[in-house]
Amino acid sequence: MQLLQNQSLKKLNTFGVDVKAKLFAEVFSEDELREILSYIKYKSERKLILGGGSNILFTKDFDGLIIKLSIKKIDVIEENAVSVVIEAGAGVIWNELVKYCIERNYGGIENLTLIPGTVGAAPIQNIGAYGQELADTFVSLNGVFIDSAETKTFNKNECRFFYRSSIFKEELKNNFVVTSVQLNLKKNPKPNLTYKALSDYLAKNGIVNPTIKDISNAVASIRRSKLPDPVKVGNAGSFFKNPVVSEDSFRKLKAEYSDVVSFPSESGQIKISAGWLIEKCGWKGKRVGDVGTSPDHALIICNFGNATGSEILEFAMRIKEEVSNKFGIKLEEEVNIL
Ligand SMILES: Cc1cc2nc3c(=O)[nH]c(=O)nc-3n(C[C@H](O)[C@H](O)[C@H](O)COP(=O)(O)OP(=O)(O)OC[C@H]3O[C@@H](n4cnc5c(N)ncnc54)[C@H](O)[C@@H]3O)c2cc1C
Repeated sequence: MQLLQNQSLKKLNTFGVDVKAKLFAEVFSEDELREILSYIKYKSERKLILGGGSNILFTKDFDGLIIKLSIKKIDVIEENAVSVVIEAGAGVIWNELVKYCIERNYGGIENLTLIPGTVGAAPIQNIGAYGQELADTFVSLNGVFIDSAETKTFNKNECRFFYRSSIFKEELKNNFVVTSVQLNLKKNPKPNLTYKALSDYLAKNGIVNPTIKDISNAVASIRRSKLPDPVKVGNAGSFFKNPVVSEDSFRKLKAEYSDVVSFPSESGQIKISAGWLIEKCGWKGKRVGDVGTSPDHALIICNFGNATGSEILEFAMRIKEEVSNKFGIKLEEEVNIL
């Protein structure tokens, strides 16, 4: 384990914000994690678990201990004729796990191709895209409580997965470290083509009976064409969640704006595209100094140069206020603000 002081986080967050951590440790096993959590010397330090930094906005230096998880292994722990259960360490890059599964024709996470970040962070907001979400294949996860260093396994029900949320983003926020995740994948996978942009792409390219590799390639191609690459332009993907409204509110909105973009939600309510709301307020491609929304995707706030975290936050709050004033809808941040 390495313990550093005054560690720059600029390369460790995809916004590319230039901040520092007072203390920084990279841990390579659950034992090392429990060891550092048990040190009396660091007991009173505020702690933050860091994966790939692709869903975090640092607005100031972190005055505490950041623990970066680098537990990297993928094992098959159960297998039968139709399915396989794999266990992946929290430090595995999510897209490496997707590739591992596609190479072996294990289906269930191919629509989640190219989501940045680590396996350990995937359950925190129940990552999702193109008609799939982590909860669809999730079995359980192992981890350690930050305050007691005790271990616990959470089954799917206990994780309380919702749209871009889980118990780890709510009650247990910053009090539980995920060390490994178990997923159940299909050996004879059926493609999930429920997402229209994906099925349109396949049809347009003449792909009739897609394999999971075809789906992964299609998702990668769509994502590359519309999402800014954080290596080139700092961003954390969608800044806000898509707000969920009642059918009644949706009907009223639709009566006024016939072009409103919406999706069905699990609860029977309606999810409105946050990108559409922001665009309607005139913020698509808008820029203030080094901060702006992507010209292709209003929901993505970018650091085009040397913006600070507080400048990015201030820009986001202006968007939030305008959406609230125009539509009476309160946007909720998907990105974790620190
Ligand atoms: C270009 C781009 C596109 C994106 N597209 C999508 C998308 O399509 N769908 C989607 O859902 N998300 C998307 N995201 C958001 C992001 O990729 C995911 O939220 C991802 O799971 C974050 O992983 P990370 O390792 O970078 O987490 P970090 O940003 O490091 O951490 C995020 C949160 O999880 C906590 N955390 C991290 N690791 C652990 C752990 N092991 N145990 C406990 N807590 C932990 C952190 O403390 C923090 O609160 C996108 C981001 C970018 C930059």
